[in-house]
Amino acid sequence: MDIQTQDDFLSSDALMAYVRALAQDIGPRPAGHEGEAQARAYIRRALVEAGLSEVEEMPFSTWDTWGYTMLTPMALALLGNALGRWSRVGQLAGGLLSLLGAYQVLQGVRAGRQPLAPLFPKRQTANLIARLSPARERRQRVVLVGHTDTNKQRVSFAPWSKRFLRSAATLGIATLALNGLAQFAGAVGAGKRAASLRRGSTWGIAALLSVLLYDEVEGYVDGASDNATAVACLLGLGAHLVRYPLRHTEVWLAFTGAEEVGCLGMHKLLDAYGEQLADAWFIDFEMVGTDEIVYVTRHSSLSLLGAYAPDDESLALADETSARHPEIGVSGRPVVIAEEVGSLRGRGYRGLCLVGVGKDGWLANWHRYEDDVEHVEPSGVERAARFALAMLHVLDDR
Ligand SMILES: [Zn+2]
Repeated sequence: MDIQTQDDFLSSDALMAYVRALAQDIGPRPAGHEGEAQARAYIRRALVEAGLSEVEEMPFSTWDTWGYTMLTPMALALLGNALGRWSRVGQLAGGLLSLLGAYQVLQGVRAGRQPLAPLFPKRQTANLIARLSPARERRQRVVLVGHTDTNKQRVSFAPWSKRFLRSAATLGIATLALNGLAQFAGAVGAGKRAASLRRGSTWGIAALLSVLLYDEVEGYVDGASDNATAVACLLGLGAHLVRYPLRHTEVWLAFTGAEEVGCLGMHKLLDAYGEQLADAWFIDFEMVGTDEIVYVTRHSSLSLLGAYAPDDESLALADETSARHPEIGVSGRPVVIAEEVGSLRGRGYRGLCLVGVGKDGWLANWHRYEDDVEHVEPSGVERAARFALAMLHVLDDR
């Protein structure tokens, strides 16, 4: 089949109808809140309409802001420092807490598993999974991923502040680690120097804690680009593949919950189906609502320490697709981003991310109120969907 056929399922008009339903009619979709549940109900209806009535719901618990990821380790470190004033055991415990906190923040900014997760208050959320069988025998599986939830407007993502984001997170990790080491040094009797280092880091942690609290005060965003565009691409591709199935490639549509708070939906999917998906190809859609659509060749993560990259095979598949389909206009480049490919790569799976970048090279209107339907570039959404379809065909033809 000629994959350049302009069918209705992947036209920008068809895809924008999904984007409007999610970002305008439903609006903000915080993890574990009513808006996210409404989005799931809408996705289920759209899938049934497309001819995909078998949809698996995969419930799990989540917290509703990544603030817990960052604030909890800072608060625990301050508590540990208070303990350390009383006794040597307190110093050892405080040192451990602080080092654990440093690890917690590092995991948070690179979408890994979070050791302090049991402490965060929980709500209920779910993934939705739909599966499309190939026309003939299955030789491979591809999982298309798009998250349903939205983040808050954040001062840390303002145009003036976003370039300090990764250094600030790195400073936070380093301060917590240093504070932990100072506690240990104090416990083994390295008296005055350790004490003054700990006093310094205590002030540093307190300052970071107040910045993080200030970062939490705004409301949740519409998330038209982040990530209604991704959900739209999955729905369009699902409708297309029902009519025009691949020959040897099974496709899963994974609508993940709670991505913005730590990629919990992806971790849940891997916990449940990790063995079945060991050889699967994962294509994650993120914020594909801009004119320039790229596949990410290197993900910075949100600190200077946790960078990650797609696997070589996925990258080769994207390069080949880009070379064979110059008319779609999608190429590879490194991007400042942290998302579900971080969770995948951290656990040894394949993974590649399609993303839209703005004029300044950053994700456009990332975690800002401007991430609304008016700021979405419809042609970008369509090209992202068509590039993913082209990748599926390149793989299916092998
Ligand atoms: Zn996102």
